[in-house]
Amino acid sequence: MSLLFRGAELDGSARDILVEGDKIVAVGEELAGPLGQLTEIIDCLGLAAFPTLVNAHAHSAMTLFRGAAEDLELEAWLKSVIWPLEAKLTAEDIYWGTRLAALDMISTGTGLCQDMYSDPLATARAARNSGMRFVIDYALIDGMDEDKAAAQRRACKAFFDNLPDFGPNVSFNLAAHSVYATCPSSLRWLGEFGRERDLSLHIHLAETKFEIDSCKKHTGMSPVFYLDSLGFLGPDVFAAHALWLDAADFDLLAERGVKLVHNPASNMKLASGPAFDYGAAKRRGIVTLLGTDGSASNNGLDLFADMKLAALLQKHEYHDPTRFPLTELVASATVLGHEAFGDGAGCLEPGKAADFLLVDLSAPGMIPRRGLAANLVYAGGGGAVDTMVCAGKIIMRHRKIDGAEEVRAEAARLSARLAAAR
Ligand SMILES: [Zn+2]
Repeated sequence: MSLLFRGAELDGSARDILVEGDKIVAVGEELAGPLGQLTEIIDCLGLAAFPTLVNAHAHSAMTLFRGAAEDLELEAWLKSVIWPLEAKLTAEDIYWGTRLAALDMISTGTGLCQDMYSDPLATARAARNSGMRFVIDYALIDGMDEDKAAAQRRACKAFFDNLPDFGPNVSFNLAAHSVYATCPSSLRWLGEFGRERDLSLHIHLAETKFEIDSCKKHTGMSPVFYLDSLGFLGPDVFAAHALWLDAADFDLLAERGVKLVHNPASNMKLASGPAFDYGAAKRRGIVTLLGTDGSASNNGLDLFADMKLAALLQKHEYHDPTRFPLTELVASATVLGHEAFGDGAGCLEPGKAADFLLVDLSAPGMIPRRGLAANLVYAGGGGAVDTMVCAGKIIMRHRKIDGAEEVRAEAARLSARLAAAR
């Protein structure tokens, strides 16, 4: 079945986009295409095409905790609310929490999410049924208990030795929670095992002052130098947050080719540290992607909203309105993310993966149309997303997503059960 998107606005002109299988095969004016019964024609008058967004750091199932912990210090946020709730989570909670997250992400334009949570199989089942792309971490978090760490490494190896297949849109990678919650033996092992199996690595890095102080106290090094001493860092590493970094840390991250994931909403809401220094990363050629983090610290998963916050934070903090301009912001949320995860999407060109949004140009924030990217980022793009194509399939059509009612009902039921069990 081919899909012919007729007359979508693309880079300011009306274009037809022909999709066959999971690929864009042609983009042009009044494409004839292999018309016939096997082609569905989608009228795109009044809609603009735009690449799907990439949420490079999320804990999807935390949607069930949305609104559970407001205006708290980080320690109280974690110890009195989040950890007790997480102790009660079942695989069913993680499945429906992730489905709710996918609903939130699809309806606001995100087509790929890198997810770090505690049950990769429950997450993967939800990911497959959502239709969007997921890169799911097998995350090691041991609370610095060597026995636990060794058991986790064995379980992790067994998981990848018998890797389950959840379809072409779901892949797995590796994660360490952080330098303070994952033993050095596991950090070293993850670097070795990841490179042996060609799996990327994901970690929370330099998020809080506590992390920096305790790492220096125990190792005499900053978290960046400590991870490097264990052979963890490389171009296959995604480091989330990256707030408490000095010039030497940035230099080493650049040398190793590490990619950073900036989470502006979560960082500001939890007052985790100083503003992320996008300029320091950019000057050194370090790739910066964007993430929402979990719904207990954001609380939505609309990446367009995080793009706006990322830009405003840089401009405000560094007294420089030219910082993190739209072209770089859009690249961080689209093409750089798709390239980093290797899904072949990010540009609307023949031969690329068919992953794109159709944005409703009649939405109030999209008028007038001086610049689509500026409207999307600064005037509420998430609410203007009308349709999403992911790997050649329409997974949201005129804001309708298959199965959405069941997801809403189950997520509400399970979050009420968790609240009652506290
Ligand atoms: Zn996080």
